[in-house]
Amino acid sequence: MAKKHGEGSNRPQGFATRAIHLGYDPMDENGALTPPIYMTSTYAFESAEAGGELFRGERKGYIYGRNRNPTQNILEERIASLEGGESGLALASGMGAISAMCWSLLEAGDEIVIDHTLYGNSFALFTHGLTKFGITVHAVDLTDLANLDKVLTKKTKLVYFETPANPNLRVIDIAVVSERAHAAGALAVVDNTFCTPALQRPLEHGADLVLHSATKYLGGHGDLLAGLVAGPHELVHRIRQHGLRYLTGATISPMTAFLVMRGIKTLELRMERHSNSAAAIADMLAAHPAVAWVAYPFHDGFDQVAVARKQMTMGGGLVSFELNGGYDAGMAFMNGVELVTRAVSLGDTETLVQHPASMTHAAYTPEERASHGISEGLVRLSVGLENLEDLLTDMEAGLDAAMASRAAAE
Ligand SMILES: *Cc1c(COP(=O)(O)O)cnc(C)c1O
Repeated sequence: MAKKHGEGSNRPQGFATRAIHLGYDPMDENGALTPPIYMTSTYAFESAEAGGELFRGERKGYIYGRNRNPTQNILEERIASLEGGESGLALASGMGAISAMCWSLLEAGDEIVIDHTLYGNSFALFTHGLTKFGITVHAVDLTDLANLDKVLTKKTKLVYFETPANPNLRVIDIAVVSERAHAAGALAVVDNTFCTPALQRPLEHGADLVLHSATKYLGGHGDLLAGLVAGPHELVHRIRQHGLRYLTGATISPMTAFLVMRGIKTLELRMERHSNSAAAIADMLAAHPAVAWVAYPFHDGFDQVAVARKQMTMGGGLVSFELNGGYDAGMAFMNGVELVTRAVSLGDTETLVQHPASMTHAAYTPEERASHGISEGLVRLSVGLENLEDLLTDMEAGLDAAMASRAAAE
């Protein structure tokens, strides 16, 4: 008799092995190597009694596609395992995951603490969305614990942050902030989109829940939108049964669940390549006369390099830098690159570049941008998987253009 898939030694399987195989045996599906995509919205019951048992939760199985689908289930088991959580949940987008989490765990009268540097739409959800429903939101700089201590109260339900944070890649100490949150009776929730579990596993450092925009590195190819959650069964179950089922209805499509799984199969390999190329580009930028400063978590000049090395295994694929010459240098750089693509988002095979002052934050005045920590020459690069030599050549052309614009202005 051949062994069933996953049987064998008791040694826990490695990250890449689980990313490729966990939760699926081809022999359960006619030998199909890759999991079939279950394109169905509803499920038939074997008998009247079986239907009743399913609805009462006495029998395992499927009822209707909004909360569960077999393809989605494999993805959920994989993200739970890769993050080191008991359970996982897949949703239609990162914002779907974050909003389903909030609506499930919070109620009017609660308070929450968020880091002041968040993905723009997460920040909008907290500061414009939740506040309409009687939730008090404190946005503070969580790199300084004194700020957290000032706003934690008995009413604080959760402390929410990203690390590294966009766009300046500030790093927040997951273990220390989680401990403070727990002491106040609050949950620590981390958006791990920038690192993925290949580089950082917040649950191992004490966080209670991890969220992802799987649109970025987990999907990895710029061809889908998806969100993921991992954590203890009780919390994840609540988010599925309330947040997903009737508060948002943000269901992932079976096709998208399949594509995210395809992306995750190569995640470890890709994160290594993204990180190695980004580290080399950060070194080049730091030594270049067109550049005032570079932010990269594993760069020796980065002021939080010690915290970054404590909780991340590599530096990740994002690099931010400030050009000498401000806004005009930023514009010249953006027009001076050719292979590097002007676009928002991140985590794709293609290297993407964004200049917040002329793109995502173009509607702000320079003073407003400054108050959000966005300087005029700030550029954020999501380093892709192209050959490093080609990327360095293209980046140098952009930097030359930035220097030429500055010389022309003087
Ligand atoms: C993109 C992003 C989100 C939102 O995810 P969507 O999949 O676009 O809804 C949330 N957090 C971070 C850090 C992101 O980069």
